[in-house]
Amino acid sequence: MLPQTQCGQCGYSGCRPYADAIARGEAPFNQCPPGGDEVIAEIAALLGISAIPLNTAHGLTTLPTVARIKESECIGCTLCLAACPVDAIVGARKLMHTVIAAECTGCALCLPPCPVDCIVMELTGAERDRNQQRNDAPQLRERFHAHQLRHAKREQLRRDRAASAAAARKKTIIDKALVRAKVRLANRKP
Ligand code: SF4
Ligand code: SF4
Ligand code: SF4
Repeated sequence: MLPQTQCGQCGYSGCRPYADAIARGEAPFNQCPPGGDEVIAEIAALLGISAIPLNTAHGLTTLPTVARIKESECIGCTLCLAACPVDAIVGARKLMHTVIAAECTGCALCLPPCPVDCIVMELTGAERDRNQQRNDAPQLRERFHAHQLRHAKREQLRRDRAASAAAARKKTIIDKALVRAKVRLANRKP
């Protein structure tokens, strides 16, 4: 039911955590600006209660937008790539990056990490379309899960490498200490 843009505007780290919080009665159901009044009405109907207005402290429901990278200014740092929850950006280190417009949800999460401010949000020119949003949701959910999985694997790899490097440093220190001890023993007068 939630749009699956994973934008975090509801105050949770994604649509699923927010849905869980609503289900537990820990969060009001009017905190999702991308879903807007339509999603609020759908949740209210599901719960058999009255709809309430969107809590605009979490943002406003806007017309569809898409991110665009000013490619001549992009330095290829890859920070936006890691920030995009649905993998809508392609590029490689030190090379220009591009947004795949058809995959972009307009969540704007790629803007803050860009060190040269070369990403801009633009209106797509389309009207809000709840049916389209509903159709796109399963694919967005899958892309988010794939993104999270890859991120978790990269983190694990980084931790493994750090642990190996620490073990190697420790072994070097012990080896050197052993060599020094052997030299001391060899030099000891009988
Ligand atoms: S789309 Fe709605 S529910 Fe999902 S993260 Fe954004 S604000 Fe939260
Ligand atoms: S490209 Fe930017 S605005 Fe579009 S989905 Fe990814 S993070 Fe969101
Ligand atoms: S964060 Fe900005 S500079 Fe870095 S790759 Fe993305 S668009 Fe280019």
